Amino acid sequence: MSDIFKKIGETITETGKSIGETLSGTSKTVSEKTKQVSNAAKLNGRIVAAEHSISENYGILGKYYYDTFKDAPAEEVAETVYAITASFDSIDEMKEQLLTIKGLVKCKACGAECPMEDDFCGKCGAKLEKPEPPVEEPAEEAAEEESEEIEIVVVEDEAPAEDSAEE
Ligand SMILES: [Zn+2]
Repeated sequence: MSDIFKKIGETITETGKSIGETLSGTSKTVSEKTKQVSNAAKLNGRIVAAEHSISENYGILGKYYYDTFKDAPAEEVAETVYAITASFDSIDEMKEQLLTIKGLVKCKACGAECPMEDDFCGKCGAKLEKPEPPVEEPAEEAAEEESEEIEIVVVEDEAPAEDSAEE
């Protein structure tokens, strides 16, 4: 038992010594540590800035590639190119919807935003093409569209059943 207490006592003493050494060592290098921390922060900041620069240049490169090859992209990046095109198309659609909500229509010839009730552009005189879908669709028409979609699904389900019947 006494051996155990001795050992515990020795361990406590050694621990106390090492803590003391660590503390004095720490106080000596406080200014060095502060320098290291601030250098690390600077380096981290420069890494983030460099990564940001890479992203920006990737963007420029990507835009160049898209503008040049959007109609015939390489197979490896075709999906990404077409995704960008789809986003552009949906933006155009949504902008047109916004104009419709505001009671305006965009002239296809000059880009001027003209009142929906006008037949010709007030700026260039071109005939205005009105968007076909009205702002508020009757509820009945919407219901019919939904049931048509369901019918298509049923037809698709019947096709494999006929194949298996033939076998
Ligand atoms: Zn116009």
